[in-house]
Amino acid sequence: MNIILIGPPGAGKGTQAKILEDGRGLKQLSTGDMLRTEIAEKTQLGLKVKDIMDAGSLVSDEIVIEMISHRIDKDDCAKGFILDGFPRTVAQAEALDKMLHHKSRDLNAVIQLVVDENALIERIEKRAKESGTARADDNAATLQKRLETYRSQTAPILPYYQNHGILRTVDGMAPVEEVTRQIAEILDQA
Ligand code: AMP
Repeated sequence: MNIILIGPPGAGKGTQAKILEDGRGLKQLSTGDMLRTEIAEKTQLGLKVKDIMDAGSLVSDEIVIEMISHRIDKDDCAKGFILDGFPRTVAQAEALDKMLHHKSRDLNAVIQLVVDENALIERIEKRAKESGTARADDNAATLQKRLETYRSQTAPILPYYQNHGILRTVDGMAPVEEVTRQIAEILDQA
């Protein structure tokens, strides 16, 4: 089973992806985590994307499409994967469709975590405190920019998946366990 979790920064995609990973043996693929690893390891790619990420902008479609295309071929994705933070543009969504078609794999569900944007600032600030300064982009100023990026570049992929008939929504403001329950219900029907 292959699924996408979609929602603005702080919506709880990572939290739910980890729960699904443990509960269903699916592999969480977070392009944000992959890029942060590149930065931590000071690779050429890491150096290229650092400033873009710190500013709350998106790195180029080519970079993330290539990363995901390689990653889903690995053995640990055989049972399925959860895309967390990808796709983030319509171009990425289209490339993903082509890629999966080419690899003879399906997309079973696209789950949108619907959240109140005002509450996100609070959540992100909490995450920043809990993880120390692990993420340079977890601060109120950059969050505004990341939300703006989400609205202008990522939200347009929702109608794309709606038209494909695979978009489902859950209440991302509900307690974690309730969000997990709503997602489970969707996956059990998918
Ligand atoms: P995330 O951890 O998903 O919030 O991603 C952190 C940052 O990594 C984003 O603000 C972007 O700069 C970059 N990034 C992660 N995934 C993507 C993607 N699919 N497309 C473009 N940029 C991305």
